[in-house]
Amino acid sequence: MGRKVLVLGEVRDGALRNVSFEAIAAGKTVSEGGEVVAVLLGDSVSSLATELVSYGADRVVTVEHENLNAYTSDGYAQALMAVIEQESPEGLIFGHTALGKDLSPKIASRLNSGLISDATQIEEAGGNIVFTRPIYSGKAFEKKIVTDGLIFATIRPNNIASLQKDESRTGEVSSISVDVKDLRTIIKEVVRKATDGVDLSEAKVVVAGGRGVKSVEGFEPLKELADVLGAAVGASRGACDADYCDYSLQIGQTGKVVTPDLYIACGISGAIQHLAGMSNSKVIVAINKDPEANIFKIADYGIVGDLFEVVPMLTEEFKKL
Ligand code: FAD
Repeated sequence: MGRKVLVLGEVRDGALRNVSFEAIAAGKTVSEGGEVVAVLLGDSVSSLATELVSYGADRVVTVEHENLNAYTSDGYAQALMAVIEQESPEGLIFGHTALGKDLSPKIASRLNSGLISDATQIEEAGGNIVFTRPIYSGKAFEKKIVTDGLIFATIRPNNIASLQKDESRTGEVSSISVDVKDLRTIIKEVVRKATDGVDLSEAKVVVAGGRGVKSVEGFEPLKELADVLGAAVGASRGACDADYCDYSLQIGQTGKVVTPDLYIACGISGAIQHLAGMSNSKVIVAINKDPEANIFKIADYGIVGDLFEVVPMLTEEFKKL
């Protein structure tokens, strides 16, 4: 029979974030052959609806309003609750992003529902939908099922594979009119810090620097390697605290959590709080001049050496590919 599952499409700088497509794939598993309805909220987003269909959404519902021009929890909650009232879904999937982390508890409390947050795997087993999520900063995993009511979960970006894009897929796109009003916050303008383009939490490759880079300039070789690999640059808190880079790059327990295909840690000792943000990366390469550094315990490949020699060598080699 299957369930109807609503998934939230996330838009950033006018484009859909990859986690939206991963949420559709997660929605397919949860729906067990039912319907996956993607929701798009914004001031002008309907042109993105067909892309959600091409990634597997059976239907797309949009809510457009000038007060949804930027994310506010009040505005998004009003719009989303209107869609939920119309659709009466049995499942809800958001990305475990800054937006999803902020919005999901608000929606869960309005629906008087539970919430499984930060799922890294979803599967059907023994007649249940089983969610796997990391606990104790990634040192262990727990499996959860919902025994009654709405199945509501957020998914960690980069963990659940999206479906192959197929532009021949078809699906209805409709809109709901919601008067988004009485917001406690109105966003007039969003001024983003200049970044090198690749979104850290969704990057397939991350080149991260620690206190071992020693200065702001010390990050330059890492940026060059990142450019060649199409990677995002990240950092340990040690590097951020030393003012070598911006805190927006911090990875770890109190920073961003990343799960790239490849994580290259340069001059990072591997403190437990750093590992909490990257230990689930698929392949970890560590470059450190201390052979006893803790990071080598979780690295798939370790290079004992001076990062200022090793990183430029890697960059030159990757340029040849
Ligand atoms: P260090 O531990 O100083 O390590 C530097 C490494 O660089 C050393 O291993 C050294 O051998 C190597 N090195 C030096 N020169 C070179 C060279 N030329 N070539 C190669 N290697 C070199 N940390 C985080 O990262 N993220 C967090 O979210 C986070 N949250 C925290 C929350 C709390 C509550 C607390 C208490 C701490 C938190 N920390 C976090 C801090 C964490 O405990 C460590 O202090 C921090 O991760 C250390 O950063 P680091 O590895 O860059 O520096």
